[in-house]
Amino acid sequence: MKLYNSLSHEKEEFKTYEPGKVSMYTCGPTVYHFAHIGNLRSYIMEDVLEKALRWEGYEVKRVMNITDVGHLSSDADTGEDKMLKGARREHKTVLEIAQFYTDAFFDDCKKLNIKYPDVVQPATGMIDSYIKVITKLMDTGYAYFAGGNVYFDTSKLKKYYVFNDHDVEALEVGVRDSVEEDPNKRNKNDFVLWFTKSKFEDQALKWDSPWGVGYPGWHIECSCISMKFLGEHLDLHCGGIDNAFPHHTNEIAQSESYLGHPWCSHWFHVHHLNTASGKMSKSKGEFLTVSLLEEKGYDPLVYRLFCLQSHYRKALTFSWENLDNAAAAYDKLVRRIAALSREGTADAAAQGPWRTQFREVLDNDLNTSLAVTALYDVLKADLSDADKRALIGDFDRVLGLELLEHAAALSEGEKAAPAGEDAGEIENLIAQRAQAKKDKNWAEADRIRDALKARGIELIDTKEGTTWKKA
Ligand SMILES: [Zn+2]
Repeated sequence: MKLYNSLSHEKEEFKTYEPGKVSMYTCGPTVYHFAHIGNLRSYIMEDVLEKALRWEGYEVKRVMNITDVGHLSSDADTGEDKMLKGARREHKTVLEIAQFYTDAFFDDCKKLNIKYPDVVQPATGMIDSYIKVITKLMDTGYAYFAGGNVYFDTSKLKKYYVFNDHDVEALEVGVRDSVEEDPNKRNKNDFVLWFTKSKFEDQALKWDSPWGVGYPGWHIECSCISMKFLGEHLDLHCGGIDNAFPHHTNEIAQSESYLGHPWCSHWFHVHHLNTASGKMSKSKGEFLTVSLLEEKGYDPLVYRLFCLQSHYRKALTFSWENLDNAAAAYDKLVRRIAALSREGTADAAAQGPWRTQFREVLDNDLNTSLAVTALYDVLKADLSDADKRALIGDFDRVLGLELLEHAAALSEGEKAAPAGEDAGEIENLIAQRAQAKKDKNWAEADRIRDALKARGIELIDTKEGTTWKKA
């Protein structure tokens, strides 16, 4: 599989430390509030990656942390612990808040058909590990004690900005702007490994340590949880692109300084979900959650399909109109599958070339939009209905859209195939083209229009959207 690696800034052949096995780590949620659907886009795409690796025969062990302490309001170690803010907002204890939002997160994941990780570890359960790692970093000169806190000394590193796709200067300015200068830091990028002093003295959870009673910084938890369950050589680390700096950059700094050798070979970052007004966030505009989608009558799997229709390395723009397009495409796809006969026997040899083609699009940097298109290719192929059902079921082990299950659940009346053999597929392509235009990906939009034209389908753009006719 060729997969883009943020560390090398290239698409490269995905390799594992042990043949056939993948150790996979995912930064989990900070459980102080509901996840918004922008956060969940990352988990959906990571889930598809995990399922693709399993589908290709890898044995995957996936570990996720739950951040229930130490993630301050600013990612750069300033402000109050987010958990404490959540507890105060809801007049509950930090532990109650953590439990409630951890459950809510996994409820959302379940609705989106995201597999539960093999290991889920709350940060508060690993204090001894943090102390062990920080002690070694102190002993080896990578960490220092100042003003009551323990800091990682970034000047000891040969290279700190490992993901600098971005301009280093711009990053530095960004950090300077968003952070009140901490006078204890020797270098502006140094970060806290262990807090005992903060302006916010009512921190709820504290533990004894060689440096005084306090609590861990946010970054150290991911290094320690990953190393405990996945060992010293990690194959694949996932997360949203906004975690690349400073969080993942700091994870690498402390893990490799502690281990004395390279740590994680492959970094998979999922790009933002935007709204018309910019990057989606909890504080801005409508707070879009899975529950809200359900209240408005959408099956959460429609949102999953919407995410799959775009590449994970492109920013994706959310609008209700685009979600409606995905809902229409999903509905028609399910009805076409429901119309397939359940009689007959499948012929594995006939299916072979289709599996090969599906594998090729996954292997090309997880091209999920073409993987969705493969479903339509199968539906219109010269194959028996039994083969079509077998292939769709097999592809859906990766896509996770529960297509056969939803098709089986349709009542007899609903099972009638939609008008026009290719209607569902064409509308899926129109939805993908609308999305490409929204993302300003003109080349992709033109490609889709031309591909349809080559098949004698003409698109008509109107103010209300795009319709089509046979030319
Ligand atoms: Zn993390």
